[in-house]
Amino acid sequence: MKVACVGGGPAGLYLSILLKRRDPSHDITVHERDPEGSTYGWGVTYWRGLLDRLHECDPESARAVEEHSVRWSEGVAHVRDLAARHKGDEAFGIGRHRLLEILADRARSLGVRLEFEHEITEDNLPDADLVVAADGVHSALRTGRADHFGSRVSTGRNRYIWLGTTKVFDAFTFAFVETDHGWIWCYGYAFGPEHSTCVVECGPETWTGLGLDEAHESDGVALLEKLFAHVLDGHPLIGRSAGRAGAQWLNFRTLTHRTWHHDNVVLLGDAAHSTHYSVGAGTTLALEDAVALADALGDHASLPHALTHYERRRKSELLAVQSAARYSARWYENLPRYIHLPPDQMFALLGQRHSPLLPYVPPQLYYRIDRAAGQLEALRRFKRWLGPKVARTVHARALASRE
Ligand SMILES: Cc1cc2nc3c(=O)[nH]c(=O)nc-3n(C[C@H](O)[C@H](O)[C@H](O)COP(=O)(O)OP(=O)(O)OC[C@H]3O[C@@H](n4cnc5c(N)ncnc54)[C@H](O)[C@@H]3O)c2cc1C
Repeated sequence: MKVACVGGGPAGLYLSILLKRRDPSHDITVHERDPEGSTYGWGVTYWRGLLDRLHECDPESARAVEEHSVRWSEGVAHVRDLAARHKGDEAFGIGRHRLLEILADRARSLGVRLEFEHEITEDNLPDADLVVAADGVHSALRTGRADHFGSRVSTGRNRYIWLGTTKVFDAFTFAFVETDHGWIWCYGYAFGPEHSTCVVECGPETWTGLGLDEAHESDGVALLEKLFAHVLDGHPLIGRSAGRAGAQWLNFRTLTHRTWHHDNVVLLGDAAHSTHYSVGAGTTLALEDAVALADALGDHASLPHALTHYERRRKSELLAVQSAARYSARWYENLPRYIHLPPDQMFALLGQRHSPLLPYVPPQLYYRIDRAAGQLEALRRFKRWLGPKVARTVHARALASRE
């Protein structure tokens, strides 16, 4: 089979590895528009479940990913001059540069052709049995066929910027800072021995009130360094990585699609779906998409059947994380509802931000129910039963009102 993967991000590269492992006679090319070694963003988080999956699928790249990841199992949240530290699940961070370097090296060693600085559009679409649109959230291949894919976009209210820093956080770190124009916050996590990611977010009125909408790039970064000095310990924030344009303030766009394939073109990773960064799942989902597509292509002789099976499986697997991401994004958009709670309650509800019930229950009542549920198994089961029902009803109503 001749396969053209458009986009050399985690999704496209990992798919090329898995297909080549299954059948070395596949003719696979990854077309990436950027030069080798250049990518946007900083580090990404993931959990043990992904690592186990990667070890099953391709132990060689999994070992390299594990070796180059940092890990932590504590979270710390700062609100005003208070800080709370708590134990959490084991989590991992790896730099995007490093992850892509590992995947590209592995793909090459298996005989995948990598063509960097090669942008694909509808006009130079490669001639292949299968064209994989792994070209990210702004996918040109998908946009050119938006009607067919039935794309839906929902744009978040808050502004965010993805920065790096030389401060190496020893725990997943949240810092909420009150300004004269409202709250602004950051989340930081290490992704290597010398760097951490630092995502900063705020509501639009805070963004304009602080002048971040008009500030020159370096002035904006300097202001953020001042606001978060208490967690950065004098380390700088970094707005641009080598050879890239400076980081920009954006609104997060959550994308869904009625269908994920058209003739021999199939969507993979962020091109197929995007989930709010506050659940730290996009890379994991992109890699899991690659696993599911490689499985489907291996299990079905007919391409249309394989693509239909892949789409059906992934859409159903994604439901829970997409719901969590929507509620998590909304929690931050409704920060004033939680930020004035007593610190132990605020920190506990920060950990519960994915809950579909939380927006509909007064926060202090929710906190008490959650505490009680922690002690009573029956109540916990009731909460687990009720949560998805509320989420489905609300989602169905939202869809109906849009139609
Ligand atoms: C602020 C922020 C924080 C995040 N944090 C996390 C996290 O902690 N954990 C996590 O799992 N995920 C995180 N993510 C999400 C994660 O970065 C993405 O979900 C992931 O990169 C998706 O992988 P992908 O391969 O589908 O797309 P991408 O990584 O975007 O790769 C797409 C590639 O396609 C190339 N390309 C685009 N158009 C063309 C074209 N026409 N021709 C050729 N090449 C093209 C691009 O240059 C790019 O290299 C975060 C995202 C954001 C915005």
